[in-house]
Amino acid sequence: MKQKVKTLIIGSGPAGYTAAIYAGRSSLEPVLYCGLQPGGQLTTTTVIENFPGFPQGIDANQLMTDMREQAKRFGADVRDGSIEKADLSKRPFCLVDERGNELETETVIIATGASAKYLGLDDEKKYAGMGVSACATCDGFFYRKRTVAVVGGGDTACEEAMYLSGLAKKVYMIVRKPYLRAAEIMRKRVEEKENIEILYNTNTLGLFGNDGVEGAHLVRFKGEPNEEKYDIAIDGFFLAIGHKPNTELFKGQLDLDEQGFILTRGNSTSTNIEGVFAAGDVADPVYRQGVVAAGSGAKAAIEADRFLQEKGLK
Ligand code: NDP
Repeated sequence: MKQKVKTLIIGSGPAGYTAAIYAGRSSLEPVLYCGLQPGGQLTTTTVIENFPGFPQGIDANQLMTDMREQAKRFGADVRDGSIEKADLSKRPFCLVDERGNELETETVIIATGASAKYLGLDDEKKYAGMGVSACATCDGFFYRKRTVAVVGGGDTACEEAMYLSGLAKKVYMIVRKPYLRAAEIMRKRVEEKENIEILYNTNTLGLFGNDGVEGAHLVRFKGEPNEEKYDIAIDGFFLAIGHKPNTELFKGQLDLDEQGFILTRGNSTSTNIEGVFAAGDVADPVYRQGVVAAGSGAKAAIEADRFLQEKGLK
């Protein structure tokens, strides 16, 4: 099947759904492909307490279901499925879904998100949502006056550790190298914070606990003659070892930064290809918040609408 559309949205996190709400209300009749994880990264957490409008918090899956319904209410054609091929070399762009359906579209809004990296330990899965998290801003609040560990030594790890140090009683940083990779100002901040303890040259072997995380098995100087295994007692285990943007499909076509995030122009969501816009975490290595992603989804839809009007395609 071949179909002509004005706006194709790829991704179903807050950026994708918000873009669909705005595009639908602008009569762009958007088609949205949900991808492999309908609802996006937020669905891996439980309660969301920092999305404005929900003073008591909201179940993450409920929030995403509501966004999906809101997009459908304004005419978005929301499809369970993935885009598997993208030819952005000329307009209309040609994209193909996993069933082989071809979509010819004048604008594309890429909102494919990013995935947090994990260490690959079985215990990360075992304790998912029970003490293991990849987002301190999302889940830190649940660890007030408790003890947590942050894995990683980059800027994100330092920011997460600083954020958590304002809530938790004690924060360990588990850093595999003998130094922090983060910018000097961030390094100084965590080194000087009295309730942060940095465990250098340390790797995580596993987690333990009965009804959730109660501690971590660690190893210092792994593989060296002075290797030493030890345990720490913690209530929360936060991964901050980087994110991988979902941009495989666009490599060689769109300008990406060295980590693979889509580069957008100035304060807009436009990319190096006219008519292709990027919203949410796929273009955001820094903030990675649902509300920020939703805001950029709105921007992308407004910009797609203006583009179509300028080209006389609306
Ligand atoms: P980074 O890639 O900079 O850092 C990842 C950290 O995780 C490193 O310390 C790395 O260790 C460690 N790590 C990676 N894999 C493993 C593993 N398997 N086991 C243990 N440790 C591991 O990622 P960030 O998310 O921190 O930052 C991404 C980008 O965003 C950077 O360019 C950063 O500067 C930027 N950023 C900027 C901010 C700001 O300016 N405010 C805030 C947040 C991010 P190792 O050093 O040994 O490789």
